[in-house]
Amino acid sequence: MKRTIRWCWLLGLVAMLGVTAMLGLPAALSAQDDAVREITPIADGLYRFRNNFHYSMFLVTSEGIVATDPINADAARWLKAELDRRFGQPVRYLIYSHSHGDHISGGEVFADTAIVVAHENAKAEILANNVPTAPPDLVFSDRMTLTLGGKTVELSYLGKSHSDNLIVMRFVDSRVVFGVDFVSAKRMPYRDFPGGFLDDWPHALEALEARDFDILATGHGPMGGPSDVREARGYLEELRAAVAARIEQGMSDAQIVEAVTMDKYRNWGRYEDWRALNVQGMTRHLRQSR
Ligand SMILES: [Zn+2]
Repeated sequence: MKRTIRWCWLLGLVAMLGVTAMLGLPAALSAQDDAVREITPIADGLYRFRNNFHYSMFLVTSEGIVATDPINADAARWLKAELDRRFGQPVRYLIYSHSHGDHISGGEVFADTAIVVAHENAKAEILANNVPTAPPDLVFSDRMTLTLGGKTVELSYLGKSHSDNLIVMRFVDSRVVFGVDFVSAKRMPYRDFPGGFLDDWPHALEALEARDFDILATGHGPMGGPSDVREARGYLEELRAAVAARIEQGMSDAQIVEAVTMDKYRNWGRYEDWRALNVQGMTRHLRQSR
């Protein structure tokens, strides 16, 4: 009797999960860990994949799937199972945004069916730093266009910014751009710009502004549009000008952190956490380059 009741409860749970899946509700359950994961449709065949605070994209075509940053091995295994279940299509291309392990670990999960694509500098970094992922099979320096099932994905290197190997992916048919770590929508840049190239960064954003798209999907935080790219560049330029002026005035590092409040951006995500670090990173950079 007891066993029957327990089985009934279990079957009920399984049925409930099945209904959730059928309704297409965000599937946030994971057997391996308690990460929050979801898949959100963005445009025809194009989806955003979330793993906690990291996001990537994938494009489903009649000839297979173009996936981007695997994020980590657990996330990639979860995603692979979901892709099999929902679409029954293999991943044909796996594209890395840049070499950082928090975005591209776990690529080996898709390597049985996928050609792994990245910027040429990313491949060198991945190998040098032993990033736990599949090394790229196919690299490029400036621009590369992939087509699959009649859909086009344009990959572009826009110069140095958050790293020297970061690319943007433009899903041409749906006018969506995927940009990671060097651009956000109403969100502060990460901490003190570790490993970043602050002189080149605004130019990379300018190059993105010149691309033709309607929707900006990012690696962190909310999605946005072309105006968010302009605002991200405006932020960097204003931060640089504000810090440079205080250095000219002979202020100390501590005085600069206090003075450069970037008030206009108070409503941006992570303002309280990263404003001071942003100022410190810019101050260090400008003092070193004087
Ligand atoms: Zn990064």
